[in-house]
Amino acid sequence: MSLRLRATKKIPRGEEYDVVIVGGGPAGLSAAIYAQRFLLKSLVVAKEIGGQLNLTDSVDDYPGLGRIRASDLVNKFKRHAEMFKATIYYPEEVTGWERLPDGRFRVKGKRGLDVYAKAIIMAVGSVRRKLGVPGEREFAGKGVSYCSVCDAPFYAGKDSVVVVGGGDAAFEGAILLSGYVKKVYLVHRRTEFRAKPFFVEVAKSKPNIEFVLDSVVTEIKGKDKVESVVVKNKKTGETREIKVDGIFIEIGFEPPKEWFHKLGLETDEAGYIKVDEWMRTNIEGVFAAGDCTSQWPGFRQVVTAAAMGAVAAYSTYNYLVEKGLYKPQKADVGGTIFER
Ligand code: NAP
Repeated sequence: MSLRLRATKKIPRGEEYDVVIVGGGPAGLSAAIYAQRFLLKSLVVAKEIGGQLNLTDSVDDYPGLGRIRASDLVNKFKRHAEMFKATIYYPEEVTGWERLPDGRFRVKGKRGLDVYAKAIIMAVGSVRRKLGVPGEREFAGKGVSYCSVCDAPFYAGKDSVVVVGGGDAAFEGAILLSGYVKKVYLVHRRTEFRAKPFFVEVAKSKPNIEFVLDSVVTEIKGKDKVESVVVKNKKTGETREIKVDGIFIEIGFEPPKEWFHKLGLETDEAGYIKVDEWMRTNIEGVFAAGDCTSQWPGFRQVVTAAAMGAVAAYSTYNYLVEKGLYKPQKADVGGTIFER
């Protein structure tokens, strides 16, 4: 569940920040914590607070916290950033920026945000990947879901669902759904899984999870809502129509690469923002952190996102010092919490 609190205040138009952090997931909030510790005047602008953690049930691999509900971890990140008086503004969507002749950035948002920044940290995560098969778009929200953790309870007592994917999200979803529905089909295009072995073992131990491997979904069918899914075995070419109440598409994320290119950010082939080991992008004064970056591909974790956010804030601080732009805030003053 995402945190969406009622509006209290708007960010004053023309306000100037040392750094604007775009994104409110673990990378963005960690960047805010560290930026405030470097006494930078920082603004976090986010569509929602929590990022991908909002699509996860629980986290058990963030050091020091044991097993924790993802929503509680989001709250902890947020409260920690607030403790250091980071200014957090949401929901707002940064649309882009322009570089001014004096080197500052003018940053604008969809809902009227218009502020200045000496530096920017991009921590925008990535967007859900789609299957691109007939019926997917038509039945979105009518049996097609992209978030098992969010929607599983709606299927309580139903007969069967399909989960697509072989990563942590698909396995976490299948395991969760196996407690709500009579039968879960896990459809994956290979026989090897990206998911953590722990998830795979738990899923294998569930008698009501059936693995449909080397297979892809080719069509989603129904009248007013999803009624069946057509699955093709890639090796044999055989197709099978499975009667289901819903399909959960958990096949990962893609970065918004067209937007990055429009902003002038260099990306890798997959569209992730290219960064060096200090989270510097190809644009001077623009840093990036978390799932939107090319750093550590294939290992996108809360702890790695948080680490990147911290490094990006440190690099921002160094950049401002080198440029003679560092004017520390007083330690006891800072931003306000703005919530819309
Ligand atoms: P992911 O790790 O990228 O896995 C995506 C899966 O979908 C892969 O198995 C991939 O198959 C498959 N896939 C991709 N495109 C496909 C397509 N067009 N058709 C069919 N299958 C397709 O994504 P994720 O599972 O969403 O996880 C994202 C990140 O969040 C990961 O870093 C993960 O560790 C993390 N996460 C952690 C937890 C947790 O620890 N509690 C829970 C959820 C997510 P191939 O394997 O063949 O490429």
